[in-house]
Amino acid sequence: MVIKKKNEARKVLETKRRELLTGSSDRDEILIENAAEDFDRLQQQMNREVAIRNLDRESKLLKEVQGALKRVEDGSYGTCLRCEEEIPEKRMKAVPWAAYCVPCQETIERQRAAGEEVEDHEEVFDQAAA
Ligand SMILES: [Zn+2]
Repeated sequence: MVIKKKNEARKVLETKRRELLTGSSDRDEILIENAAEDFDRLQQQMNREVAIRNLDRESKLLKEVQGALKRVEDGSYGTCLRCEEEIPEKRMKAVPWAAYCVPCQETIERQRAAGEEVEDHEEVFDQAAA
């Protein structure tokens, strides 16, 4: 990868990572508060469930961003982890932490939806780095 592009990708990914690490106000919602009214309690419980779902999504995204940062460093950034083809620049611009090209991403999601065992390259990557 061209150095300039590498620096650009790193900058975008690090900004996103910082945003995910610090920017969430949802965490506050998870704190259990004492509600006098039952309605408030119900409302808070719903807020908490939404907040937990958001956190789930954020921590998954954070993992993806961190994986992408590692790939910037080892030079595999921008290459699909599944078919090893170059991921089109348009997709990398839209999703800078994308690990797969669109056809592979769709295949993986289809397999997951069907409950099939999916080889998770990202997971393997993480374990190797740990
Ligand atoms: Zn692919």
